[in-house]
Amino acid sequence: MRPLDLTCANTLGLPCLADHGVTIRSLSEATASWRSLRGQGLRLTVLGGGSNVLLPPRLRGVVWRLAAPAPRLERHGRVEVFGGVGLDALVHSVGEAGLWGMENLAAIPGTIGAAPVQNVGAYGQSLDEVIEALEVLDLRTGQIARWSRAQAAFAYRDSLFRRQPGAYCILSLRLRLHLKGTARLHYDGVRERLETLRVSEAALRPLHLSAAIRALRREKLPDWHQYPNVGSFFKNPVLAQAAWARLQARAPALAMDRYERTGGKLSAAQLIESAGWRGRRRGPVGMAQRHALVLVNYGGATRADVLWLAGSVQASVYARYGVRLEREPLML
Ligand SMILES: Cc1cc2nc3c(=O)[nH]c(=O)nc-3n(C[C@H](O)[C@H](O)[C@H](O)COP(=O)(O)OP(=O)(O)OC[C@H]3O[C@@H](n4cnc5c(N)ncnc54)[C@H](O)[C@@H]3O)c2cc1C
Repeated sequence: MRPLDLTCANTLGLPCLADHGVTIRSLSEATASWRSLRGQGLRLTVLGGGSNVLLPPRLRGVVWRLAAPAPRLERHGRVEVFGGVGLDALVHSVGEAGLWGMENLAAIPGTIGAAPVQNVGAYGQSLDEVIEALEVLDLRTGQIARWSRAQAAFAYRDSLFRRQPGAYCILSLRLRLHLKGTARLHYDGVRERLETLRVSEAALRPLHLSAAIRALRREKLPDWHQYPNVGSFFKNPVLAQAAWARLQARAPALAMDRYERTGGKLSAAQLIESAGWRGRRRGPVGMAQRHALVLVNYGGATRADVLWLAGSVQASVYARYGVRLEREPLML
């Protein structure tokens, strides 16, 4: 077995050496590899694009990475796709085919196999809306089963896969997209961006919307190639009504919207910014100037540096506002 350097395989650029890596190209390869690893008593970790993980310096056992064959576009907007296909590449392919349903998920890094884990979402769209079924390998028993969307228990940035880390590998997905769609334009800046592209609403196609979202994201988020990061470092907290009322009394500007309108969801970025963390650096890590929710590795950071800064931000937001921030990236 040869060690595999994953330092360039995670968007936060954390140094990590895995014992060994295997590429999985099919369901039968997955089963064969699983049996062989089980026989040798080796630990198995599934890694996608490494855009939502905090890697340790040393990852014991074997790392699986799924291959990326071309997705199969079938009739009536149905798509079969293997787990290693890049999410953004898929958004582009289905957009080119004129299919609606994923256009607002443009420019999110990572693979489609990992995307159901936190039910990726952006600009008013989330992946579970287009999932029809998933081919899932139970890493504890070696059984492959076809899951319905309901079985995965999707929620806001959450799913059963996320709640049971390391228990499953999503090998492929069946998506149901739409030949006729309704564009979701209600997020800040989307309509304005489309105006600069000079596309009328009547002529709008999925690729136009993806182009607008890509441009918006380029403006708002630091580029991870230049400033290594994992996107939003914390989830937007959802408060119960009593906690919302307490925050309203303590910091009226932060909870000024009506509870019913937001469903109790607060902006984590606003909390972090109000607590004074935007643009603040601590050694090799810091919260980005461009977006308070993005934790950046400015060079040479380890997972310990990242966790230390994240813990400091969480403690300071809790001390000021009584709100607990939950980390979004997963520890491997
Ligand atoms: C710049 C930037 C912007 C981002 N913007 C968004 C955004 O707008 N919305 C959003 O929701 N997220 C966003 N993210 C987070 C991230 O891109 C998503 O969570 C993405 O789905 C992670 O995919 P990945 O392939 O990189 O997964 P990885 O980081 O490799 O893995 C994440 C977790 O999934 C597990 N996993 C990986 N592959 C599989 C599989 N096939 N089966 C089962 N488990 C698996 C891993 O073990 C790990 O626990 C952003 C990240 C970055 C860096």
